[in-house]
Amino acid sequence: MAAAQSPVESFLASAAEAAKVILETVEKDGFIQVFSHLDADGVSAAGIIGKALFRLDARFRVRVMQWVDEKIIGAVLADKPQLVILTDFGSGYLDLLSDKVSDFKVLILDHHQVTGEAVDNGNFFHVNPHLHGIDGATEVSGSGVAYFVAKAVSIENVDLAPIAIVGALGDLQDKNEERKLCGLNQLIVEDAVKAGLVTVEKDLTFFGRETRPIHKALASSTSPFLPGLSGEEDKCLAFLASLDIKLKEGERWRALRDLTDDEKKRLCSALADYLISRGLHAEVSNLIGNVYVLNREEPWTPLRDGREFALMLNSTGRMDRPSLGIAICMGDRGNALEEANKVLEAYKKNINTYLGWVMEKPERMREFEHIYVIYGESSINEKMIGTLSSILVSSLENPEKPLIAFAYIEKENAAKFSARTTETALSKGINLGDVMRIASERYGGKGGGHNVAAGAQVPTDQVENFIRSVNELVGKQLRGEDLGSADNS
Ligand code: C5P
Ligand code: ZN
Repeated sequence: MAAAQSPVESFLASAAEAAKVILETVEKDGFIQVFSHLDADGVSAAGIIGKALFRLDARFRVRVMQWVDEKIIGAVLADKPQLVILTDFGSGYLDLLSDKVSDFKVLILDHHQVTGEAVDNGNFFHVNPHLHGIDGATEVSGSGVAYFVAKAVSIENVDLAPIAIVGALGDLQDKNEERKLCGLNQLIVEDAVKAGLVTVEKDLTFFGRETRPIHKALASSTSPFLPGLSGEEDKCLAFLASLDIKLKEGERWRALRDLTDDEKKRLCSALADYLISRGLHAEVSNLIGNVYVLNREEPWTPLRDGREFALMLNSTGRMDRPSLGIAICMGDRGNALEEANKVLEAYKKNINTYLGWVMEKPERMREFEHIYVIYGESSINEKMIGTLSSILVSSLENPEKPLIAFAYIEKENAAKFSARTTETALSKGINLGDVMRIASERYGGKGGGHNVAAGAQVPTDQVENFIRSVNELVGKQLRGEDLGSADNS
């Protein structure tokens, strides 16, 4: 029977198994502890599982963390839950979890690369697309995995499909020519469209297409990043004026949604020329693509556009207010939304400040033989390092070289690294998840992730060794050599 199952079928069967574990625990009134990752996908996943548990009237608590470590183990040992659920992380930490919490029932709902092995004692349940030959980097996100489990818990949870779409967009799973969600994500989009919750349109993909004055939408764009325009409202105003695009309708600033088709075409081709003249050919494909409109959300709010929704969730996670993001995913639209709007604005300001900081002095971004390195050290908040590398990776002179950025986590005497790369580098055989894991383990750290985006924590005094090692491992991958294991060779 197993042989006849397609990858999607066997993935969905494992989601159904997970749903059973949740239902059995709730039936016995067991306490459930949920831990989720702090990015947009993790916050979405927490919201989806949180809502599903809430609807079951379960006893549960949700906490958001930057990674799986001893803090989670300590919380489990202290609170002794009947079920631990990890969403959007966990698959890279099977050994640690098996070692420390094997007496507890653990359910991992993740899409990261799997490392290590879970103890086979009947206590571990693991839903991960990679276990079924499905690519977790591009075809389903952590919130997508959580969604399939929630849907198996109750069909009522199909109304959470838009949140899983937001999570996938937050994890940049639309990074293809058409900016389209594919694979299992496509199934989620179909659920959402069928339920009338989401409409998919082809349009310019700038943030704020629903809400912002056009020049502000351009200026706040980070994907694509428009050097000379991003962060520069005055220059954007001049740019639009030169294209003869009217900025105001009477007293009201026009938003992208107000542009005529002809105006949109003119704007699009001018931006394409602008990017190409700066050597940023790869960014052109980021201009137009699928736009995911959340029909039930108020127009003129960031929640109406899937990508802007994701940015808002990311901001709540990265600015230490993830409960606001989770509340919004669970349906709260009052105070939580008002607060989250403020957090989002502060977050955008932060990003612009940091981008300016990186660009200010050449030694802050250094070029090595095979990689670029941003030295955020004590100047960048470690929770913002991932966001910055995601933005800056698409504006590198040589897109074949991955980018790694780091900042110190002062309290822990460690450095937080984020690595990002492009499709071009992936096609040459780069897998950053492997690079970060192997290099960090060589120097007493911990790392992992996806081929295109990965991270690591490394002791502060090993930073230079670690960077050298990453450079060398990337070189090896480019030459098609096997990386072997984490020995000190
Ligand atoms: O933290 P950052 O955003 O750079 O992480 C990139 C990806 O790598 C994330 O999906 C994250 O969960 C994963 N990661 C990991 N292990 C680490 C650090 C990051 O699996 N130690
Ligand atoms: Zn994720």
